[in-house]
Amino acid sequence: MIEAINTLIATRYLPPPRTRAAIDRLQAQGFARLRRTVMPRSPFYAPFADQPVARWPQMNKARLMEHFSQINTAGLTREEALHLTLQAEASRDFTPMIGDVALGLSTGTSGQRGLFASNRAERRLWAALMMGRFMPQLWRRQRVAFFLRANNPLYETVRNPLIAFGFYDLLRGIDAHIPALNHQNPTVLIAPAQVLTRLAGAQTAGHLHIAPQQVISVAEVLSPEDEIAITRAFERPVAQIYQCTEGVLALTCKAGSLHLNERYVHFGRDVVDTATGAFCPIITDLRRQTLPILNYRLDDVLVPDPTPCACGSAATRITRIEGRADDMVYWHTRNSGTAGTETGLIYVPADILRQAVATATAPIDDYRMQQIRQDTLHITLDTPAFNAACVSVQANLQRAAEALGAQLPPLTFSHGIPPPTQDQARGGDPAPKRRRVTVQR
Ligand SMILES: [Zn+2]
Repeated sequence: MIEAINTLIATRYLPPPRTRAAIDRLQAQGFARLRRTVMPRSPFYAPFADQPVARWPQMNKARLMEHFSQINTAGLTREEALHLTLQAEASRDFTPMIGDVALGLSTGTSGQRGLFASNRAERRLWAALMMGRFMPQLWRRQRVAFFLRANNPLYETVRNPLIAFGFYDLLRGIDAHIPALNHQNPTVLIAPAQVLTRLAGAQTAGHLHIAPQQVISVAEVLSPEDEIAITRAFERPVAQIYQCTEGVLALTCKAGSLHLNERYVHFGRDVVDTATGAFCPIITDLRRQTLPILNYRLDDVLVPDPTPCACGSAATRITRIEGRADDMVYWHTRNSGTAGTETGLIYVPADILRQAVATATAPIDDYRMQQIRQDTLHITLDTPAFNAACVSVQANLQRAAEALGAQLPPLTFSHGIPPPTQDQARGGDPAPKRRRVTVQR
């Protein structure tokens, strides 16, 4: 409890760490505590407690699942945990708990199942972090609307006398919730980016009329065009919590930048593009106790921004989250293939592709781009002026390719985006087809 209160105070009232040295000190304390109090309780990690981090096994979702029974410090077996969470998913009317450990299941973008577990103290810490950073006024009763795929005590923890909490199950569809949402009129609206976009559409159309003071996008990547639509509809900037089952990885600061949560998580970098410094994070969660996340590589690609932030925090700024490493677009360099020159591939930030559509001279309502290996870029446009839009997008992409020193791959265009499938229409999982830029290898 004391730790949760400290977290709330630190997040809300203390200045953020202003130097790299201050962050390093906080992290050194975190590592010392992990080695002293957490690793010895994990059969998997106990032998590594006094080993340098470089010797710790590198983890990912598959390996964490494989060794779940030995890694967790609560003596849970993977089989009982899986059984209980699957049962809960199917019935949707109870929260899977073993003792005071709450369990959850994630499907993730890869479709691979991941289990997560948290005890009461960890859930309090999460709530303290959220309240510290995002509740508009702690002394006034807040109404929080939370759209999520499945109920989980992690979020229930936020329920207290000062917070009236509405949970909206994404599997029931978004439209079904609109009357209740209007009735609740939340002061804080928390939902995945794509759900916020749909709610923004309902608000603009007049079906939804709420006035949240704080709008928070969780869990998935928030694209610039969605951010604009949400900001317009609710007349509020959208704050972002970049979190996955592995933890809260980044949060928007008061100046509106996304910073890595380096107070509580250590980020190693597996650099995938030296020019931009884009990297896949290798995280060690310094606070997690029940299911330690140590030296764990994520597939998301983060693009760092080295310029200092107006908020004064020295925590790394993130320009954008590119999504999965699998969805990174590469084109051939200009000279590749010519005799006597080096052949090579150049990384094309998804932002550049989006920009080519956003700045087209013809109106484009929506679009998809699919890069097929390095050979073809297939573009689908939803536009009343298809021919003009194609010409304009092609010209923009050609200019972008020249600026990058890349060869624009052959383009193919088609008109009209197929309607979402039943599952996608419900706004549940961020299915790959809903992503605007995808890559087929
Ligand atoms: Zn900042």
